[in-house]
Amino acid sequence: MALNETHDAGLQSWLASANTGKSDFPIQNLPFAVFRRKSGNEAFRGGVAIGDQVLDMAAVRDAKVLAGDVQAQVEAAAASQLNALMAMSPAQWSALRLALSRALRAGAKEEAALKACLVPQSEVEYTVPVQVGDYTDFYTSVHHATNVGKLFRPTNPLMENYKWVPIGYHGRASSIRISGVDFKRPSGQLKAPDADPVLKPCNRLDYELEMGIYAGAGNPWGDAIGIEDAENHIFGLCLLNDWSARDVQAWEYQPLGPFLSKNFATSISPWIVTLEALEPYRTAFTRPAEDPQPLPYLSSAANSRRGALDVQLSVAIQTEKMRAAGQAAEQITQTSYRHAYWTMAQLVAHHTVNGCDLQPGDLMGTGTLSGPTAAEAGALLEITEGGKKPLSLSNGESRTFLLDGDAVVFTGWCEKPGAARIGFGECRATVLPARQV
Ligand code: CA
Repeated sequence: MALNETHDAGLQSWLASANTGKSDFPIQNLPFAVFRRKSGNEAFRGGVAIGDQVLDMAAVRDAKVLAGDVQAQVEAAAASQLNALMAMSPAQWSALRLALSRALRAGAKEEAALKACLVPQSEVEYTVPVQVGDYTDFYTSVHHATNVGKLFRPTNPLMENYKWVPIGYHGRASSIRISGVDFKRPSGQLKAPDADPVLKPCNRLDYELEMGIYAGAGNPWGDAIGIEDAENHIFGLCLLNDWSARDVQAWEYQPLGPFLSKNFATSISPWIVTLEALEPYRTAFTRPAEDPQPLPYLSSAANSRRGALDVQLSVAIQTEKMRAAGQAAEQITQTSYRHAYWTMAQLVAHHTVNGCDLQPGDLMGTGTLSGPTAAEAGALLEITEGGKKPLSLSNGESRTFLLDGDAVVFTGWCEKPGAARIGFGECRATVLPARQV
């Protein structure tokens, strides 16, 4: 993939709210979601973000506005689930992006017709944009793995396999929810060191700052996706919160890994930013010389040159007290996806090297994206060193883990001179009290 006219930082839309320089959704972004108006009883359908509006792709389809040979893509992008769009080829995705870009530009002849297809983002609600067949969660931050490892194994924080094999586990698709959907604190088996386990509400509820990667076209069962081809099988990315019950996790995780500590809820942001939109923010993938270099199936020239993505990521918390006082969520972490130890392409190549078949719309979490410094930690477990050092908030409150009423808000964006800002919007949810057990 290369830069093309759709990335031109000088492009302006006929929609003024896309041209502020501060919007997450300028004409260079064009991410996809599935939405409907909050009021009434409309069907969910696909949309594209532009400025503070959603371009209703079902309305675009019905009005037959877009020129060129993109009717199949428009049809797929108008659906209530975007799996068919994801099953298409990068050339087809790119053709749709180009048609949208040209029709949304200042001076485009489609302006009047497309204006009739806009819905204000303030009036819509979103849903999970695909049928997620399978959800896999990786563990790609060596900083997170080391910080967490230190809590459990001070003398041997990083397992030997970490630098050779992208670590992951198969997660649960049924409990994935869109941003804005709140969830009850989970309960589970908790075990104090000197007592038998009991069933109780989780006391150590945490978030994990991750990105979600949506699979595009899959591979036949038994075949592998080579690393050179891996990005052709990635549709785009979102923000992902892998909510984690640390006390449940500590008791259950050996020997088979996370189970009920992870599968009660996963939140995702509604907008899927395409790989093509992120092209200006590609960056080199490097390994320290003293580390093992990736095996050949996890290595390619293109992956080394541009395999990583510089997406800025932020975590903020809004407690119930802040909300009552009208105080905005307070940022507690800022980091970047570029610090990941394994790239998107390596995850796809590794996931399929044994013949496992990916399917369009499968979701892969990157794992907690902690950066190299303490201020870049992507989970409370790290920030509070396992609950030993409470995090102080500016209103005088403190947290070791999340309390009922806490909202956790992730945001993501790309910015640099000479390129348009590309935003991801937000991923937000609030912890509700546990059900009685
Ligand atoms: Ca995780």
